[in-house]
Formats: sequence, C-alpha cells, structure tokens
Amino acid sequence: MLTQAPKGTQDMLPKDAYRWQEIARTMREACALAGYQEIRTPIFEHTELFQRGVGDTTDVVQKEMYTFEDKGNRSITLKPEGTAGAVRAFIESHMYAETLPVKLYYSACPCFRYEKPQSGRLRQFHQNGVEVFGAKDASVDAEIIKLAMDILHANGIDGLRLNINSIGCPNCRAAYLEKLKAYLEPKLPTLCKTCQERFERNPMRILDCKEDAPKLTDAPAMLDNLCEDCAGHFEKLKGYLGAMGLDYAIDPRIVRGLDYYTKTVFEIITDAPDGGELTVCGGGRYDGLVEELGGPATPGIGWGMGIERMIMVQDMRGSAPAAPAPLDVLVVTLGDDARMEGVKLVSELRAKGIKADLDHAARSMKAQFKYANKLGVKKVIVIAGDELEKGVVKLRDMEASSEAEVARGEIVNLLIRN
Ligand SMILES: [Zn+2]
Ligand SMILES: [Zn+2]
Repeated sequence: MLTQAPKGTQDMLPKDAYRWQEIARTMREACALAGYQEIRTPIFEHTELFQRGVGDTTDVVQKEMYTFEDKGNRSITLKPEGTAGAVRAFIESHMYAETLPVKLYYSACPCFRYEKPQSGRLRQFHQNGVEVFGAKDASVDAEIIKLAMDILHANGIDGLRLNINSIGCPNCRAAYLEKLKAYLEPKLPTLCKTCQERFERNPMRILDCKEDAPKLTDAPAMLDNLCEDCAGHFEKLKGYLGAMGLDYAIDPRIVRGLDYYTKTVFEIITDAPDGGELTVCGGGRYDGLVEELGGPATPGIGWGMGIERMIMVQDMRGSAPAAPAPLDVLVVTLGDDARMEGVKLVSELRAKGIKADLDHAARSMKAQFKYANKLGVKKVIVIAGDELEKGVVKLRDMEASSEAEVARGEIVNLLIRN
C-alpha cells in the first residue's frame, strides 16, 4: 500500500513531463492569440456549488464526487469539472462589471471523480478548458470550437470529427421534454436501469445512453423543436464554422447531460483502435448558469479537454512530440582543483543558455564518460590537472570521437557559436 498510488491516480513521470509541458505551451499560445487570460481556481469548493452548478440530477453529482466534511464541519468537494469554479470566481470577483466578454482559460486543471475502476478512467484527471462570459453571439461558439481544434492539431491530434447540436433553451425545452417523455414512456420497460431512473429527472440523457440509443433512433429531436431564437443561433453557428473552413456534422444525440446547458453543444471525436470513438473535447453554452449561481444574468460558454486522453490519442497515433535534446555538454573532471573549475565552468555555460552539468556523484573519469554516453551527450569538456595548469580544456566530440584543446577563456564562446 505504502508504495502504491491510490486506485485511479497516476504519476506524471519525468519521461512524460515534456509532453505535458508541450500541451500547456500550445494551450497558452493559442489562448493568448485569441485574447484569453488564465484563471486558476481552488481544487476544492463548497459542495453546494457543484450541486447547483453541475446539477443535482447528473451522474457526476449523484455518484462520482469526492465529498467530505472538513474540520470546521463544512461540506467540501474536490472539483469534478472546471466550469463551476470559474463561474463562482467570475461572480465573486465581480468580473461581470468589467468589460465584457471575459475570456478565460485554465491549463491542466486537476479534477476528481469517483469513477468505476474497470472503465479505465482516472479518479484524478486533468483538463484544459476555456470559459467565455458575456458573449451571446454564436461567433464565440464558433471561436471556442476553432480554438479547441487548433490546440488539438498543434499536439499532433488529427483526423478529428466535429459534431454539433442545439439543446434549446428553457423556452423551447419544456414543450420538447413533454414530447420526448410521451415518446419514451411506452418504451420504459425495455430501457436500461439507469435510463429508467433518468426518465423523470433527466430524460434527454436517455438519448445519450450507449445501450439504449440504438432503439431510439426515431425519438423526437430537440433540434426539430427549437424556438426561433435558438434556431437562429444554430444557423448562425453553422455559418461561422463554414466561414472558418471547419467541417462539422450535426448529431442530435449530443445532450451533454448538464442541467444548465443551453443552445450549442458540441463534441470533438476521434477514432479509437477498437473501432469505437473517443471524445477528446466537449463543451457547450450555459446561458443560465451565472444567474443560477447568484450572479447577474450573463451568457456563458466553454469546453473541457482531457489531457490524459490527448496523451492516449498521441500514443495511439504515434504522434507524440519528440523528447527534447538531453544536456548539451557534460563537464568531466579529475581531481579536486579541476572539479572546482568544473563547477565554475558549468555555471558560466548555463548563464549563456547552454544545457550543462557535471557528475555530482564524484565518479572516476572512466565512469564519468560512461555517464556521458548514458545521457546521450554529444560534447564533453575534460578538465584535469594538466589542462588546469596550461589554462586549457579538452573538448571531446562524442559522436566523432575527436578531441581538441581549447583555451579556457574561449570555450564558452566556442560552444555558443556551435
Ligand atoms: Zn429556445
Ligand atoms: Zn440506458
């Protein structure tokens, strides 16, 4: 137990760290280009925030949250997703009184869900996300979708399919839900247990059920029952996506399942090796959420993108970025005086942006060369007693196995030039 991470958690090991850093870099750069600013919110929030902000009827809130009482008897929950915390911060810091829209992003935000271990999902996972507040035009829906596509492409994740849908607004959804329930009711006994429970509290989720969806292909679609405002919004979205050259398919089965989603919902999908599909990004508009959580009525929209899933798709495709080059130079020394000079030289090299190190394990010279080979270092600088006296160092090219004497005062400049 002591040396085993808890079920559903994973270490990010040094061998993978550069991939996480690369995902963070592409996220940061793409967001900066589009005028998004970073936000970081706490890992835990008051439980009520998620009950209200994710929705009491959702599986996440009902079954999957890490909720506990702290020493002050407050009910605390580790965040199961990124949006609710961002909305809470938006309201609490009065961002709604600033120039709108407010465009935010977060990078590798840790999220926690008590998922069944056999589903292969992690209990601590990490999400990139964007949230935009105060923009009601569908141009922003199109913008965040393009942003997600750009970030995925920048990480070697191609062959993506964009599926969009509209789930309407409170004005048109109530009438639609009546229609849907009338359609579903006679079929209830044939549906799975979960869906039977969903019938009252969240009937749209039934259309999303892997098991039952194939039996329900003739169900009434929200898309055919939109009010004028929602239908107009969806038409505009399609126009903007077309203008940016983004292909899309309309998928009336996307419902996203959260209570406060309105109008646009979308998923970005890629093929899995087993013939199935993997969702790498999902999001939607939540025009009712800021008000629901106690702020002034403010439209909102966002998406989440799972980092572990991005890494998994990179592995599937063999499109992981190349590992960065190891050290540029290892300084090999013999004797205490030479070692002193080595310490000095390494710090000079680093100050000039050259990745340099020496053998801190104080090994023999032969072992230091072995170490250089293991690290894959292309250049080694040798300082021994003789060199020290003559005011020179030896520069060894490990690939060519050639060696040259260089004046101590010249070595840093020489390496900068090469
Ligand atoms: Zn509507
Ligand atoms: Zn079902």
